[in-house]
Amino acid sequence: YTARMGTDCLFCRIVAGEIPATVVRETATTLAFRDINPQAPTHVLVIPKEHYADVATLAQGDPGLAGEVLATAATVAEEEGLLADGFRLMFNTGTYAGQEVFHVHAHVFGGAPLGPMLC
Ligand code: 5GP
Ligand code: ZN
Repeated sequence: YTARMGTDCLFCRIVAGEIPATVVRETATTLAFRDINPQAPTHVLVIPKEHYADVATLAQGDPGLAGEVLATAATVAEEEGLLADGFRLMFNTGTYAGQEVFHVHAHVFGGAPLGPMLC
């Protein structure tokens, strides 16, 4: 949806360098940066640089790019030291899930026991 893309989209603006973020990993097609309001000791967001509203749109529109987002998330988890004790990947999708930013992002949570859910 045009109004959520480009300069109207918060995460597109982070990709463009117009809004600062603490970047932990960048690839040709993806960007990983720390969540501004962390809910776990490690809380990183992983996004495709190209705008897709949510994970359903991304996975159906460009499954290869969806895989690249997962690969970056796995590398971030490794670099954050999360592989031994485990971590959680989460994609909030749409209204019922409470999605607030409509540029798809994987939450990477770890660094402490997370419980059965993060709500
Ligand atoms: P959602 O509810 O859409 O899955 O999650 C959006 C996430 O983006 C929230 O965890 C929120 O803290 C994070 N967030 C919102 N605005 C910013 C921002 O300007 N910078 C960063 N780094 N994270 C943000
Ligand atoms: Zn965007």
